[in-house]
Amino acid sequence: MRSLRLSSLALTAALAMTMTACGGDDGDDEVAAPPVDTAPEFAAGSRMAELAEAGKITVGTKFDQPLFGLKGLSGEPEGFDVEIAKIIAGKLGIAEDDITFVESVSANREPFLEQKRVDMVVATYTINDKRDMVVDFAGPYFQAGQDILVAKGNPKGIDGPESLKGKKTCSVAGSTPAETLQTEYGLTTADLQLVDVYTKCRDALANGQVDAVSTDNVILSGYVDAAPDDFELVGKPFTEEPYGIGIPEGQEDFCDFINETLAESVQDGSFEEAFKATAGKVIDTVPTLPAPRGCDK
Ligand code: GLU
Repeated sequence: MRSLRLSSLALTAALAMTMTACGGDDGDDEVAAPPVDTAPEFAAGSRMAELAEAGKITVGTKFDQPLFGLKGLSGEPEGFDVEIAKIIAGKLGIAEDDITFVESVSANREPFLEQKRVDMVVATYTINDKRDMVVDFAGPYFQAGQDILVAKGNPKGIDGPESLKGKKTCSVAGSTPAETLQTEYGLTTADLQLVDVYTKCRDALANGQVDAVSTDNVILSGYVDAAPDDFELVGKPFTEEPYGIGIPEGQEDFCDFINETLAESVQDGSFEEAFKATAGKVIDTVPTLPAPRGCDK
């Protein structure tokens, strides 16, 4: 058993994570489908009425992140983000078969929402001011923190973001962790390699092409769980990453609806069930739903 602890920085999450010894989980276990409302009623002209009427929804998510969004051998994306999307769709009367999941890598999330290629993004998507200028966020529904993944045994003695200068670190373009490493810890193209998805970073670390991978602890812990003999987490989160549900700008009604749905999902147990069936296989503390930030931004 391996304990991963968030620092006081990520207090609100209060996530004491314990990795289970079930390494190699491919994320393909069956998850019970969340309930689907049979006859939901919405005000005419609302975004919810439009979606309910269409009877389908397109959701941007990650396809290569175990625990949150992973398209495994089943061909169906699985993870906590996927389950959150199903809970929201269910309240709109949309069953999981009528959800189209589209891979939205980190750099694609705002463009996909701005172009309305997706109706919402549930993809380890940190709420921040810069993004909030071009999209809107419901939530948060989870809080992570940025951490560092290293090779098993930590051969380079990396113990925090300050020790990354002069070493080779991999992260993903368009992500908050990449920006934090550049703006707050002075990493440049000499020490920071940016790619489009985290599995490329993971593979580069496994091959010894980089010394570290940095992004949210819960993403990295999925890679450790899948290969506990190859990787370990430094385990000292140094940012707060509140995950929101991204929607196009100007849909305040939909934002309020999502926040109400999240609160209801805690009441009816579907939030806990979704977590336990996915990320909860590795992170043993069910998170408390953070207070909503409000939709009148
Ligand atoms: N939560 C961070 C972000 O939104 C990192 C994870 C990701 O790239 O999806 O940028």
